[in-house]
Amino acid sequence: MHTELYIDNAWRAATSGKMLEVVNPATEEVFATVAWASAEDVDAAVRAARAQFESDSWQTMSARKRGAMLYRAGELLHERRDEVAEVETRQNGKPLFESRIDVTSTVQTLKYYGGWADKIGGDVLPVDGQDFVYTRREPVGVVGAIVPWNFPLNLASWKVAPALASGCTVVLKPAPETPLTALILSEILAEAGFPAGAVNVVPGDGPTTGAELVKHPGVDKIAFTGSTVVGKQVMREAADSLKRVTLELGGKSPNIVFADADLKAAVKGAQTGIFYGKGEVCAAASRLLVERSVHDEVVEQLAARAKRLTIGDPFDKDTRIGAIASKRQHEKVLSYVAAGRKEAKLITGGNAAQVDGRGYFVEATVFDGARPGMKIVDEEIFGPVLSVLTFDDVEEGIALANRTVYGLAAGVWTKDMQKAFRVARAVRAGTVWINTYNLYDSAAPFGGFKASGFGRDLGREALDGYTETKTVWMGLR
Ligand code: NAD
Repeated sequence: MHTELYIDNAWRAATSGKMLEVVNPATEEVFATVAWASAEDVDAAVRAARAQFESDSWQTMSARKRGAMLYRAGELLHERRDEVAEVETRQNGKPLFESRIDVTSTVQTLKYYGGWADKIGGDVLPVDGQDFVYTRREPVGVVGAIVPWNFPLNLASWKVAPALASGCTVVLKPAPETPLTALILSEILAEAGFPAGAVNVVPGDGPTTGAELVKHPGVDKIAFTGSTVVGKQVMREAADSLKRVTLELGGKSPNIVFADADLKAAVKGAQTGIFYGKGEVCAAASRLLVERSVHDEVVEQLAARAKRLTIGDPFDKDTRIGAIASKRQHEKVLSYVAAGRKEAKLITGGNAAQVDGRGYFVEATVFDGARPGMKIVDEEIFGPVLSVLTFDDVEEGIALANRTVYGLAAGVWTKDMQKAFRVARAVRAGTVWINTYNLYDSAAPFGGFKASGFGRDLGREALDGYTETKTVWMGLR
């Protein structure tokens, strides 16, 4: 397993000699130390990306060739899927079956954008007169991609794959807690044929390594996934050099259950909506809004399900709730649980847990009687903690759903399709799931309204964030 920086298709030690400790959150043990990129290292990575971007060979490389290399990278990742899933689970604490899903979906994302590379074209425009006017879609340049620790490999691919498909080069900064699978991804992309400098990885923390990347004059665009607080800082910092910015930020997503829903399916959806990924999912359905007449039944069934979710060794096949990704996040989640105990009614969970006397685990936790204004209702917790709110009619359900600064995702459960579409239209969120939750596909754009950010990952829309439109006007008068 490589633990150096990846710059110009070569493994390098950090110039500062500083190292990041990668902790397995299920055992609390340091299992790897990884080079921590200094300002000098970030500069070297950006220069490498810039040199490749501006080279004749890159500028004249056929899009089809880039697409074939992305597709090949997908195949190579598939060949290494077991190894990569194990590393992901070790650094993040998620159950191994979830890491396997992440790797499979990353394979799909690489192949999907491999398919797009040679289909990014412009238009011929019907201007007044005889002139010939057309548009080209040109790569934005060097992309600084910054990603968090909850889906380290997956979210890296959401940036890197469309960037490369568009003809950009990339400097990727993974989260300090989870740098290892980003390093493997860069190795795979090089093996698939991407030349030196096309993809560089600079592990490090936010305030030093991340901030250096954001302010570096050689970077044209920052593609950021992380918290809303840091997203605002990134946007402010990027303003000075007018870098393009796309921001995928936090959420407090509502999951609305109407009385006419298939309640068994809705309760199962509510469970996976908040407890999959230990709730460390940006689109986590952390506010469950239930129509009053079915409230008691839904809460009872949900609590019974939550109690059955096995907390355990992430490598055990029966484990459904793994370890919270870090000590810091564990403390944060527990502080929200403490606040929730004061402001709402604890139905189940509410405690820290350990496996074999160690690890940063938290029980699947459900609070009832929650209302806007409470910390557990208004703020993103990013853990396995659900707040249940009650409503009386469609209007109130929609109003409660929208009563948040965020707008990343929402769920609606009903057998009445007119009602479903009405709610889907009225809720201000980037994704609305009807009678399902937490489904993603490389073809389906994902991103936020409001304080959940702007720009889209995935789908054709993601390519917009990595291309500039050039208008070419030929006078024929
Ligand atoms: P974070 O904002 O603290 O960190 C995210 C990344 O930004 C990390 O790589 C971090 O090192 C870096 N960073 C921190 N400060 C920086 C700075 N000043 N300049 C540049 N980079 C900096 O977020 P986190 O706690 O690691 O991740 C959890 C957050 O991410 C949650 O709010 C979650 O909702 C959000 N998230 C959003 C999506 C989405 O698609 N919308 C997906 C996953 C996670």
